[in-house]
Formats: sequence, structure tokens, C-alpha cells
Amino acid sequence: MQVCAACGSSNVFYARPYEGRALCSPCFVGDLEEKVRRTIARHAMLEPLDHVAVGVSGGKDSLTLLTILAKLEGRFPRAKLTAVTIDEGIHGYRDEALEIARRHCERLKIQQVNVGFNDLFGITTDEIAATKRQLTPCSYCGVLRRKALNRAAVKIGATKIATAHNLDDEAQTALLNFLHGDISRLARNSPVLKDPRGKFITRIKPLAEIPEREIVLYAYARGFEFQSTPCPHGNHALRNDIRAILNRLDEKHPGMKFTAYRSGEKLRRLLDNVLPYAELNACERCGDPTPQMICEGCRLLEALVPLAARA
Ligand code: SF4
Ligand code: ZN
Ligand code: ZN
Repeated sequence: MQVCAACGSSNVFYARPYEGRALCSPCFVGDLEEKVRRTIARHAMLEPLDHVAVGVSGGKDSLTLLTILAKLEGRFPRAKLTAVTIDEGIHGYRDEALEIARRHCERLKIQQVNVGFNDLFGITTDEIAATKRQLTPCSYCGVLRRKALNRAAVKIGATKIATAHNLDDEAQTALLNFLHGDISRLARNSPVLKDPRGKFITRIKPLAEIPEREIVLYAYARGFEFQSTPCPHGNHALRNDIRAILNRLDEKHPGMKFTAYRSGEKLRRLLDNVLPYAELNACERCGDPTPQMICEGCRLLEALVPLAARA
């Protein structure tokens, strides 16, 4: 009979295929939190006086991130957390998530700031989806969400931006960047993106080494309510294929997602010498970091907003 590797309880909640370790529910929760703490420490993600802007969408990943950071913050009384929730303007989908995020922040007693695409950029994701455009709605939405989070973080004076990307996201991104031969993105996709000149806010991904499945289990074990409705515009065709391939590989050869993630990390460290972060500029329009002169968000908006106005 399988027993919990930490406390010996026969009430096994989850057995990690890549470790061959079974854990009961309370030990699994404690173990996952400890893994996140170790990721944060290994990558020196946080400092005692940080003000962290945490992107909180209302999904399982961001609720898990906020909960664990709130717990860790207890050990650093001078640190501060602010949840930033972005309303992309997706009718019937985002409304539910916003409400879940609001209730979760209230329970944790964490200040929450809401920012909307419409107020910031004069256009919503629903409007983008209805416009004649070259890219998928997700391509615009993802870039603009990043931009919105950056703006909110600057406005509240945050020293770090934390996002809830998990191991699956990071492994998929590493493979996608590799397949596209996107050297610039390979060089910048990191659990910590820090500007050595201190010009831009450091971005951190404390869940980068936690598999998505374990985040679902954590959210379930902690009894979180989280949004399960899929976004009506969600259509990352290539990413979905990569996800399916990685899931199949990981099932057959446990630990393959870690392998893909670590390969991405090795390449990034190598590229660090060739494409240093210092080569990022402040966008001429908005000041966001960009490898070009004008950031992707500004370029997309400049092409899109006049089209949307004519539609
Ligand atoms: Fe935006 Fe695409 Fe995510 Fe929907 S699935 S919220 S359109 S990035
Ligand atoms: Zn146990
Ligand atoms: Zn810009």
C-alpha cells in the first residue's frame, strides 16, 4: 500500500510520477509551497523591501501564486503585495473571473487594483476580435495584457512584477521559441528578467518550476473557487499542439517538461553573453522595455485602433 512519503499517512492525495513520491493532501500543499519558496530563493526573485505587483486573473495559477506569496510575505513584514487584475473586455468570460479575483483578494486582505484595456488603450479584446486583423485575438491580447500590467506596476510604484506562468507554460514557450528560431525571445524568457541598469521593473515567475497539474491539485486541496470557463477567443493553435505533444511525452517519459524547461534555460544563459538584457530600449512611445525602438504593443495598437474605429 502506498503511504505519504512525508508523514506516513495512508491517505495518499498525489503521487509525483517524476519523483516516485506519494504525498497526502496537507503534505502536498506544504511541499508545493516549499518548492515555490526554493524557486524564489534560488533565483533571488524577492528582497525584503519589495513592493510586488502580482497579476491576478482569477484563474487557478494566479490565485495559487497570490496565496503563496501572501504566506511568504508574512515573513517579510516590510514587503508589500498588490494584486493587479486586468479587464481585457471579454464579455461573459472576464466578468466571472474579475469577481473571483476580487473575492480572493478580499479573503487574503490584499489590496487590488483593476485596469481595463478600454481605459488604457481605447479598445477591448472583444472589439479586436471583431476587427479585420492579421493576427489571432490572443496575439494582441497577450501583448496588451503584459503592457497593462507594466503600466499598473509603474503607477503603483512596484519594484517587481510577478506573473503566474507555470512549468507547462514555460516548457511550451521554450519549444515554441526554438521552433520559430526566435533568438530574441529565447534570450528573454527567464524565471527572472532583471535589468542590470535598474531602468525597468524586474519580472518574476515564482511558479515556473511547478507543473500545471500540481497547481490544479493545490487549488483543489485548498478549496479555491477558480474560473473554469474557457475564453471564447482562445485559439493558440500551435501552442495547443505543443501542449499536447509535451503532455504525451511527459506521460511516457516523466520529467520531460522539466527537461524542455531546463534546455530553454541553458540556451538562455548561453545567449546572455550574446544578447544582454542591456540591449533592451525604452519604447519611444510608451517607455516599456523593447528590443526595438517601438514596442510590440504600440506597433499593434497603431495598426489596429484606426481599423477598429472604421469598423
Ligand atoms: Fe486573451 Fe487569448 Fe487569453 Fe482569451 S485566451 S484572455 S483572448 S490571451
Ligand atoms: Zn503526509
Ligand atoms: Zn510602446
